[in-house]
Amino acid sequence: MSKWLEALVMTRPPKLLHTLLPGCEWTAAPAVVGAPVIYLTFDDGPIPDETPWVLEQLAQFDARATFFCVGDNVARYPEIARAALAAGHRLGNHTQHHRSAWQVTGKEYLSEVSECQQGLRVVFDNSDDGVLGVGDSVLGQSVPPTPNTQHPVPNTQSQATTSVFSASLDSQPLFRPPYGRLTRSLIQALKSDYRIIMWSVLTRDYDPDLAPEKCLRQTLAAMRPGDIVVFHDSRKASARLRYVLPRVLAHFAGRGFRFETL
Ligand SMILES: [Zn+2]
Repeated sequence: MSKWLEALVMTRPPKLLHTLLPGCEWTAAPAVVGAPVIYLTFDDGPIPDETPWVLEQLAQFDARATFFCVGDNVARYPEIARAALAAGHRLGNHTQHHRSAWQVTGKEYLSEVSECQQGLRVVFDNSDDGVLGVGDSVLGQSVPPTPNTQHPVPNTQSQATTSVFSASLDSQPLFRPPYGRLTRSLIQALKSDYRIIMWSVLTRDYDPDLAPEKCLRQTLAAMRPGDIVVFHDSRKASARLRYVLPRVLAHFAGRGFRFETL
């Protein structure tokens, strides 16, 4: 694919792609589209090299975000996952070993998802402050909601549009497939237990051939109110992440936007 076409198609996936994977969420709920809210997401962490730095950047702008964690990293660095929860961010499932749905059997894939979710539950259960476990469930094995009055969801005090969006959907855990790859049968198997979250803007921060300045330019040009934006808290993305994230936060915060969890 030529570079300009790649930038065009990949940075903001066309609606056609949405219809190929029905049952997945590509944008915010209609109630919040157009509202000055951005949903930042960070995939592939948590890792010590990048995630604490991301948390610092978010804190500077009082921004909340959603981290789609690789279970293996959660097992290695549970304290970083707990720090993200304590700061009011949300954790989502990104499989145990970052598997592609096209390279393993359906059964193997579902067990990857389930294993990652169990790791996330351990983090939540050992956390003083978190959102993940409310009405959470491990695939095929429902866990009753626990009263959360002592630790209210941090974002429920936000403006009305966002409250409706958060309150109605908080109970379901989040899943994002690595590489954005899924099959229709896996969507069927997963969607009763998870909200399957895709994205409306991909920063392509993982691309080593993309200059940080260009990554920023293309990201800012693509972003709209209500967008779900993908970054990566990974070593591979570091050069672009560290250039682009603070500037995206400053750009939108300066224009009155809020950054919320999904
Ligand atoms: Zn990933």
